[in-house]
Amino acid sequence: MAKKRILTGDRPTGPLHLGHYVGSLEERVKLQKETEEFILIADVQALTDNFKTPEKVSSNVRAVALDYLSVGLDPRLVTIVVQSQIPEIAELTVFYLNLVHFGRLLQNPTVKTEIKQKNFGKEIPVGFLAYPISQAADITAFQANLVPVGEDQLPMLELTREIVRKFNRLYGETLVLPKAVISKSPRLVGTDGKEKMSKSLGNAIFLCDSYDELERKVMHMYTDPNRIHPTDPGRVEGNPVFSYLDLFSDKKDEIKELKKRYHAGKVGDVEVKRFLVEELDKFLDPIRRRRKEFENDHKKIDKIIREGTEKGKQVASETLYEVKKSMGINYLF
Ligand code: ATP
Ligand code: MG
Repeated sequence: MAKKRILTGDRPTGPLHLGHYVGSLEERVKLQKETEEFILIADVQALTDNFKTPEKVSSNVRAVALDYLSVGLDPRLVTIVVQSQIPEIAELTVFYLNLVHFGRLLQNPTVKTEIKQKNFGKEIPVGFLAYPISQAADITAFQANLVPVGEDQLPMLELTREIVRKFNRLYGETLVLPKAVISKSPRLVGTDGKEKMSKSLGNAIFLCDSYDELERKVMHMYTDPNRIHPTDPGRVEGNPVFSYLDLFSDKKDEIKELKKRYHAGKVGDVEVKRFLVEELDKFLDPIRRRRKEFENDHKKIDKIIREGTEKGKQVASETLYEVKKSMGINYLF
């Protein structure tokens, strides 16, 4: 039986963080042997809200690739592609634009939240509003069956499925209908206690953070705002310090004990945070070690990205060929 095909990706708007790890990267590493995996560095999508500072996007392409290698994605097993270098994706986007009506785009809850965060005011770029459509092009260009994502991406997957169904109904069975694979922690909170850790919100612990950066961020973390003295009973549920411990430390018994003491007002925030710093440092250590192997070898990273993108382009152009054939617009070639 043919291997299932997977597409996932990240916007190169900054280094990857703990949210990416539990929300998507961990699953990608797990699936890399048994599936055919394409990983997209979505620079075109990142430009939709960073078009005034394209260097912010271009300078992060290699950084994101290095993050992939650091978490253990193996370029012999996965294909890393750069979106802007595959114009076939842009061409598919143009065809899909006709299959979605304007009102539908305005309903997307993730896009709505992001519009508020980005302070576009009345000047929402059309490209930004339509990025979920270009995401449908990303996914279908590779004819992916599965898309492992965080919770914020579910509306995008829903739209992609609508586009695929509509395309196949109108022009004949052509595109594969993809399914979302949601991870066990689809939405990691930020260090500020806000609902989602994000590169753009300044509330992230990055996979490339040094011990000192990690320590500084953890010691400033939001905990239980109602707790003033270490003797006050503290809230464990929804407290990001404990959420991180649950996810990134395997010292389950010690965590259970700490939670009990915290709840009873028998341990201070500082002690719990110190413990978290050490546990996160342990978690990050193998990632840092793998990073060292690659970080000074830019040529090697570039070669991995170039070869992956060439392979991706091949697959995307086969899809585009089929799409045009189904639509009957394959006039001359
Ligand atoms: P930006 O702020 O530029 O949008 P981001 O931090 O939201 O960056 P993306 O590149 O948009 O990161 O997301 C890449 C993938 O990581 C998506 O599948 C997304 O669902 C997942 N992801 C991002 N942040 C989190 C999080 N805090 N928890 C779980 N998954 C996440
Ligand atoms: Mg995002």
